[in-house]
Amino acid sequence: MAYKTINPFTNEVVKTFPNATNEQIEHSLTVGNDLYHQWQKEPVAARAEKLHAIAKLLLENKEDLARVLVIEMGKLISEARGEVELCALIANYFADHAANLLQPTPISTKAGEARIEKHAVGVLLMVEPWNFPYYQIMRVFAPNYMVGNPMILKHSSNTPSSAEAFAKIVQKAGAPDGSLTNLFLSHDQVDQVIADHRIQGVALTGSERGGSSVAQTAGKYLKKSSLELGGNDVFIVLDDADLDQVIKVAARARTYNAGQVCTSSKRFIVADNLYDAFLKRLGQAYRNFKPGNPLDESTTLAPMSSAKAKSKLEKQVKEAIAHGATLYQGNSPIDLPGQFFEPTILTDITRDNPAYYEEMFGSVAQVYRVHSEQEAIKLANDSHYGLGGIVFSKDKERGKKVASQIETGMVFVNTFLYTLPELPFGGVKNSGYGREMSTIGLNAFVNEKLIVAV
Ligand code: NAP
Repeated sequence: MAYKTINPFTNEVVKTFPNATNEQIEHSLTVGNDLYHQWQKEPVAARAEKLHAIAKLLLENKEDLARVLVIEMGKLISEARGEVELCALIANYFADHAANLLQPTPISTKAGEARIEKHAVGVLLMVEPWNFPYYQIMRVFAPNYMVGNPMILKHSSNTPSSAEAFAKIVQKAGAPDGSLTNLFLSHDQVDQVIADHRIQGVALTGSERGGSSVAQTAGKYLKKSSLELGGNDVFIVLDDADLDQVIKVAARARTYNAGQVCTSSKRFIVADNLYDAFLKRLGQAYRNFKPGNPLDESTTLAPMSSAKAKSKLEKQVKEAIAHGATLYQGNSPIDLPGQFFEPTILTDITRDNPAYYEEMFGSVAQVYRVHSEQEAIKLANDSHYGLGGIVFSKDKERGKKVASQIETGMVFVNTFLYTLPELPFGGVKNSGYGREMSTIGLNAFVNEKLIVAV
């Protein structure tokens, strides 16, 4: 049984789950497809009530839902509560705004009276990762629920309890059968589902390898796909930045969720005049983290999500050092049974070091020294990834100009990179294609149908 809940703080196997059967797969496709046809007869606004009910139930059950996340992937309880609240915010946003955003748009043309109508396309498959188990589902679920696309969920093999908990909330809120069916699919079964004629699209968030494999199958069967993949995001500190403000953000930008965020700041690119002070103060901030039970409110350093995630990161750090990187701080064992990794700072990473291009999915900050704004931009763009980034400057206009030149899908100036339902989320290059959330995400799996009448 591949699907398992393993507590990364205690290493205890809490529960195992059998893979989906062919009967379950067939049933989910049938009910999903039936629902698609039924939903087409109803106005978009009719679905808002249930999505609001889902948001309400999420908040009412926040504590229990948050504990599921902590037990299953180890995040801090405060961060887990925040994730549940964010999901409710997303559900309420799309419930409130989708009907309006999906209104037909007229086109001025000599062809006659023309307009674009927005229609659902059919059943979708979503393939999601473990790092924000509820939020990743909600990013796809809320907009597509409103559009009228029923969904099948294939969650990560290490977050089956979160998948079940989310699906139960949807069911309890009274959403119709088929609106979200959670299936514990193997990779082969994912291909089988994508190939089915009732599936009209697939949204995946995950690694490049997973994304490439799922997109290949989608391409083979002519199904639309959207991919939210990895990142190697930069945090640029320009020579006029306010270091107090910078450090406050930098300390959490790499360690939030134990550093397991696609948009974590992974490469800190710092102007020469601030470099030494930045390194010293980031080091001090990292030494203040307190490892412990993620259910304990006073813990500030959570374990990583799994033994596999931790050993991959340890291997990457070892290899980076073997290729000439300097270990400025960290990377010492933590004397606790869980999958803890000490926040680590690496410097002197050259282009021929594998660490220069790789995504490190945990609390490892790479710090680079630059001598000009142009050098910072060049270094930032020397990446296979293009997801997000942060720029710090006391001069907001200068920060915005630098932000415009960074080859990513999102850049925030003088603040954390964070997510809200009205803001599009996604990247370019190997970070994937398409956007989730906002009007762009809402329209990702929509038939924009042209009607012309004379
Ligand atoms: P992953 O190994 O690609 O897994 C993600 C999901 O894809 C899981 O449900 C996984 O199922 C499934 N999957 C993987 N290979 C598959 C295949 N060949 N066929 C069918 N399904 C497949 O990624 P991860 O390690 O869990 O997640 C971390 C990665 O996600 C990082 O690179 C991170 O940056 C990225 N991420 C991106 C975003 C974004 O919005 N851009 C957000 C969060 C995370 P199994 O568990 O069963 O293998």
